[in-house]
Amino acid sequence: MANSETERVKCLIIGSGPAGYTAAIYASRANLKPLLYQGIQPGGQLTITTEVENYPGYADGVQGPDMMTDFEKQAARMGADIRFGLATRVDFSRQPYKVWIDDEKLIEADAVIIATGASAKWLGLESEQRLNGFGVSACAVCDGFFFKGKEVAIVGAGDTAAEEALYLSKICSTVHMLVRRDEMRASMIMQDRVKNTPNIKIYWSTETLEILGENRTESVRVRNNKTGEEQIIPVSALFVAIGHQPNSEIFKDWLELDEAGYIKTIPGSTKTNIEGVFAAGDVQDKIYRQAVTAAGSGCMAALDAERYLSEKGLH
Ligand code: NDP
Repeated sequence: MANSETERVKCLIIGSGPAGYTAAIYASRANLKPLLYQGIQPGGQLTITTEVENYPGYADGVQGPDMMTDFEKQAARMGADIRFGLATRVDFSRQPYKVWIDDEKLIEADAVIIATGASAKWLGLESEQRLNGFGVSACAVCDGFFFKGKEVAIVGAGDTAAEEALYLSKICSTVHMLVRRDEMRASMIMQDRVKNTPNIKIYWSTETLEILGENRTESVRVRNNKTGEEQIIPVSALFVAIGHQPNSEIFKDWLELDEAGYIKTIPGSTKTNIEGVFAAGDVQDKIYRQAVTAAGSGCMAALDAERYLSEKGLH
């Protein structure tokens, strides 16, 4: 029996990155009257990035947060019902599918599009947790400003780490970049930019052991894995930029995930192992992980949902 906090929709979209908003644009235009819940970080990962140069259509580049505002506005203009709230539990055992928002409100949906993205990974050090918010951060763009003119460190060697190191180099006096192997994973163009920035100092084959400081970050203890030599680098902040974890936890009892936690979809589609439940964007893509590929798969999810609902006579 539905209570007053239960709402029934044709199409529920969970997540507000490029995949979620694109799904909302297409689903609205197909008259599915989608309801979209944004999650705890409206706009997703792009809201914590700076310049986006590789999204087609923005000839002069665009700031990540501005781009996501554009996506949201477009979805709203098409008629999507966009709300703030976090999906905390699901029951996909039978139609209509049940999704609880903030552990309170229940949404019953004929089709569900999951576009919950991925979140930053942490090193797993005790000191990292203790000093989180006190100099330890996973978002240089959010927190770099607080360390203007100071020495900071960044862990990681992918495109994110390279991008954030460059961002920090414009604000901070020195950026100590801690790279665990003797090479970087970042694209060559980003590596070159990092290597040619005088105030970025790269530490190769270097493991981050501990962040030191009582109430705030004061230094970082590292070890060179080739020589075994340890070193303490005085820094005011440590930025962690070591990749991401798919946000698939609440679906794990229902959907097939791969060993890293990404939702498995049938190749060439956004279909999951449960009919009527679709997955788009970074929560199901560990290979491409781009805004444009996420948006593309959001479009696919809305088309898949529309076809499913029509075939079932639900639309
Ligand atoms: P990646 O998975 O590409 O890189 C993670 C990096 O962190 C690797 O260098 C990895 O080292 C390192 N790392 C992982 N765990 C640890 C650890 N415990 N200690 C130290 N280092 C660690 O993640 P990114 O977030 O950088 O990028 C994700 C995807 O997004 C990529 O496909 C990337 O190309 C893309 N991207 C594109 C951008 C753009 O085009 N402008 C900007 C940002 C990201 P190791 O190499 O040794 O495994």
